[in-house]
Amino acid sequence: MARRLAAQPFARRVAARAAEIAARAIAVAGRAPEVAVVVATSQPDALLYVDRLLTQVRATGLAGRRVDLGPGATESQIFAALAELSADSNVAGVILQLPLPSGVSREIVVAAIAPTKDIDGITSVNAERLAEGMYDPSLLPATAAAVMELLRAYEIPLRGRPAAVVGRSAIVGRPVAQLLEIEGALVQVAHSKTPDLGLVTRAADVLVVAAGVRGLVRGEHVSPGAVVIDVGIHPSGDTIVGDVDAPSVEARLGETGGLSPVPGGVGQMTSAILALHAAEAAERLVRTRA
Ligand code: NAD
Repeated sequence: MARRLAAQPFARRVAARAAEIAARAIAVAGRAPEVAVVVATSQPDALLYVDRLLTQVRATGLAGRRVDLGPGATESQIFAALAELSADSNVAGVILQLPLPSGVSREIVVAAIAPTKDIDGITSVNAERLAEGMYDPSLLPATAAAVMELLRAYEIPLRGRPAAVVGRSAIVGRPVAQLLEIEGALVQVAHSKTPDLGLVTRAADVLVVAAGVRGLVRGEHVSPGAVVIDVGIHPSGDTIVGDVDAPSVEARLGETGGLSPVPGGVGQMTSAILALHAAEAAERLVRTRA
């Protein structure tokens, strides 16, 4: 059976670092800077995710605000809310929760987020900085940063090693591939048009799966001894499962391989990383005010 690459105790350490940084910023500011999440959906999963995220942010000592615009919000209302929060001198971080109402352009509304407050790394300014390899780690997409933090925590070597990423979304697959490449891995990206998924994934010593398809990667897609990070989240009864079919993949990877669990893997680390990004943004806010 493969090693279980759980987020704990590393996520707890990241959260503790976030609390330390936040405490320093609050002491200097004399009040708690805020993190705001703009929500324009009534999807229960998204609302639950936002509540959990705000709980994690508040645990650092920072203030968390949910700005509910409702599923009927227009593009200009969402843009205006993001612009107002970005201009607010006590708001350190601004997050836009997906999905957006139909007809609302993500590209247009995201442009209202100040790049220095973009703690989930979704603005084009921060994406370009990553593409150029000149990025601020506290402004990376949190899930991509969480994948890298897990690999670091388990001391998985990347330099010169074949890696593969399944998925090329702007918030997960693409930034993960860029970060792996920056760390010296030889990265292949598979996506929905890839004719033979196994050809790409079996060649990888390090495989990150972010396809949004439940159980897509099975035992026959991986090589013994590889490390597999499962980013997928799919509700299943009263729990969640990932994009990886864990039983067959674990069996195939063998004792020298590793698999991140769902739940308790990337998702848990992502919340801790977002709290860290929030604390670092609070520190930045306080510094620019001084
Ligand atoms: P997305 O739908 O935006 O992108 C999916 C990507 O996978 C696309 O690039 C697509 O080409 C590729 N893909 C789809 N089917 C494929 C197939 N059969 N073979 C190969 N590639 C295929 O999804 P996303 O936002 O990147 O999210 C991916 C998954 O990660 C989802 O399950 C989502 O719920 C989860 N997620 C988890 C976290 C977390 O914190 N753990 C955060 C964000 C997203």
